[in-house]
Amino acid sequence: MIWYPYQQMKTMKTPYKITDAQGVYLYTQDKKLIDSVSSWWSAIHGYKNVELNNAIENQLGKFAHVMLGGLTHEPVEKLSEKLQSWLPADLNYCFFSDSGSVAVEVALKMALQYYINKGTTKRTIVLALEHAYHGDTFKTMEVGDDEDYHFVLKAYGKSKNVVHIPTNIEALEHAFAKYHKNLNCFIVEPLLQGAGGMRMYDISFLKRARQLCDKYNVLLIFDEVATGFGRTGNRFVADLVLPDILVLGKALTGGYIGHAVTVANEKVYKGFYDDNADHALMHGPTFMGNALACSVALKSIELFEKYDYMSKIQNIERITRREMNGFSDPRIKEIRIMGACVCIEVHDAQTIKGYQQFAYDRGVFSRPFLNYLYAMVPYVINEDELVKVLTTMKDWFNEN
Ligand SMILES: *Cc1c(COP(=O)(O)O)cnc(C)c1O
Repeated sequence: MIWYPYQQMKTMKTPYKITDAQGVYLYTQDKKLIDSVSSWWSAIHGYKNVELNNAIENQLGKFAHVMLGGLTHEPVEKLSEKLQSWLPADLNYCFFSDSGSVAVEVALKMALQYYINKGTTKRTIVLALEHAYHGDTFKTMEVGDDEDYHFVLKAYGKSKNVVHIPTNIEALEHAFAKYHKNLNCFIVEPLLQGAGGMRMYDISFLKRARQLCDKYNVLLIFDEVATGFGRTGNRFVADLVLPDILVLGKALTGGYIGHAVTVANEKVYKGFYDDNADHALMHGPTFMGNALACSVALKSIELFEKYDYMSKIQNIERITRREMNGFSDPRIKEIRIMGACVCIEVHDAQTIKGYQQFAYDRGVFSRPFLNYLYAMVPYVINEDELVKVLTTMKDWFNEN
């Protein structure tokens, strides 16, 4: 018996059974569906990509996995070298783990221990954003602010060590003024808050955050598990504003295998690098640096560069803006577009009940949640397919 995610098992409707997948399409026994969710935003190359498959098969001929404790191997060395040269500035130190949640845990642990290694135990407060989502493990739920996870608050009460602020500069300045002596780090999903409702905000907020973090010596963490690899129309938001720690996941392996990485800059790494054994980072997921995951991640980045994915993403944004231009409905609160993400927020969640089946019948797989009807398509989608996804969204309002 499978216990499915985010579902009341008693009332859950039967999930669609996928029997094959190719390009942007998922196949059920009798249907061909465009995947407008990219398997939780990870399958940026679509499915059954020959070059990605080959990368995994080649490595599989050698070995699938060896641990990183006392051992190393070419796929993990090559991927970390690639990330080091590909990521901005001195974001050079790659700590691998098996999921985005764990990689965020590692980032928070790094930030906390960074100050402890410096002899400061006062810096315990994590500043985070309202509506933040950073994963489903306990510390990530605590720094998150997602309405679905508030049972944690009911059980434990609100943590004294986490402060949530809205994405406005006044609130940001106020929080730094009030808490700076005890502030450890500021963690954000930069520019685009995904699971909290595809909320978009301005780069000026992040620029000001960087200044304040510098002024008060607070570490800035970008959780780019969702936004990384082009989703916002920037390769990484870290290309625009530099964090001290960057977390990547989801699209890292092109949606093939669960893997993530926490990348630290020189300053953070140096906070651990000394003769004191107690200053080591005591963390080590069993499957960190998995050889199949690293092989496919490296190939995924190569494809991203070789086929100029940034221009594909710009194209997706251009077509999306064109198709959504002039579209409105009194039930819609706002239509938000950024890069390869489009979200229709409705006033009443009831408005989009039934949309999944409506889309399914028209050959599109969609998974709206709460008040949010969105698409985060694979970047390899062609114009006709993308127009179909967007038209299906508009038709729902026009026909209901
Ligand atoms: C999905 C997500 C995570 C968690 O990643 P998992 O691999 O599901 O553990 C963390 N942060 C953000 C911003 C995410 O979108």
